[in-house]
Amino acid sequence: MVLWSAAVSVLDFLDEELAALDRAHRRRIPRVLSGAQGARIVLDGRPVVSFSSNDYLGLAAHPSLREAMSSAAAEVGVGAGASRLIVGNSELHERLEGALAELHQRPAARLFSSGFAANSGLVPVLAGAGDEVFSDALNHASIIDGCRLSRGTVHVFEHGNYKDLEGMLARSRARRKIVVTESLFSMDGDLANLSELRALATEHGAVLVVDDAHATGLFHGGAGLGSAAGADVIVGTLGKSLGGFGAWVAGPRALADVLWNRARSLVFSTGIPPAVAAAGLAGVALVRGEAGEQARARLWARVAQMKAGLESIGLAATCASPIIPLEVGDDREVMRWTSWLLERGFYVQGIRPPTVPEGTARLRIAVSAGHDEADVAGLVEAIAAGIAAGLSLRDRSTWNAR
Ligand SMILES: *Cc1c(COP(=O)(O)O)cnc(C)c1O
Repeated sequence: MVLWSAAVSVLDFLDEELAALDRAHRRRIPRVLSGAQGARIVLDGRPVVSFSSNDYLGLAAHPSLREAMSSAAAEVGVGAGASRLIVGNSELHERLEGALAELHQRPAARLFSSGFAANSGLVPVLAGAGDEVFSDALNHASIIDGCRLSRGTVHVFEHGNYKDLEGMLARSRARRKIVVTESLFSMDGDLANLSELRALATEHGAVLVVDDAHATGLFHGGAGLGSAAGADVIVGTLGKSLGGFGAWVAGPRALADVLWNRARSLVFSTGIPPAVAAAGLAGVALVRGEAGEQARARLWARVAQMKAGLESIGLAATCASPIIPLEVGDDREVMRWTSWLLERGFYVQGIRPPTVPEGTARLRIAVSAGHDEADVAGLVEAIAAGIAAGLSLRDRSTWNAR
């Protein structure tokens, strides 16, 4: 019985869309990993050193996360079975929320199934009709979607240009003002000036929301940057340095309680598997403890080595974080770079628009605590060989400093 025929043409526009992506060198296709995530992986069947993951502390395959998740799964099974508000709320979810609130020294935290769900659910709760949201131009897609879903008016300020923001805040007559920024920008590796943002938000009576997705685990004993800077609301993810999956919003108790009632991505979605929450608890314990300190020390040593290495081949990189972008500009050229490095055993994913602004395609090097000195030295050598072979990189003394 034929239920569907390729002759049906109402979806032909999809083939056209793919052809257009191919022509623009923008078609994205994932590679396939065998085995565990980490600094050394098997990608499309080949062992490579990966400089592409957000697993900055090398926890994704850590024995204590494996053990926490598998023993919880053995005990409570897999699926949450319902949204947490119905009957999907386990003790493990509650304990993880407690641990996350404590991590940030805030009264409460609310788990979401992902950082994407957290931001897209949070912003509409904070900003309704008549309110105004002030958002950094390089904020993550999930913040942008949260802004779009809110009924508020959205003002996008130039990346890191707080004079621009100040002017917007001063002109605003809104009842409620929300300033939202990433703390460590995911594709540029630079840091927001949170103390300046805190002062501006306070002066103008605005709420400061800090998305700590990439900073969690790396700063202030694992807490990230938002809590120490006095953010009113902090968003974090378990999917990056914490080596797991899921995300949270931390802040006042009333916020956590309103989220139960108004955040659509929370209310209308199945809770994360309790065993995943157990892995989250193990991740939080690790980053707060001695193992976290040691992993951070290894990570920052490798970041410093990468900076020195890039400088030694004439690339002036300011490395404020494990995220080190090398701007290429052209979409096709950046994918040539990725292939070139892959042939030499290094995986650095090329990042193209719309993830980054038009004309700023880049190699996004992500250093991990799992790398050793030889990994970093090898990548620097391969980049130097690429330059010698005629592959082009933009000379940007402005990396991380825009
Ligand atoms: C990765 C990321 C998210 C999304 O988090 P997930 O848990 O992966 O959905 C949100 N915000 C920022 C800034 C991110 O980099």
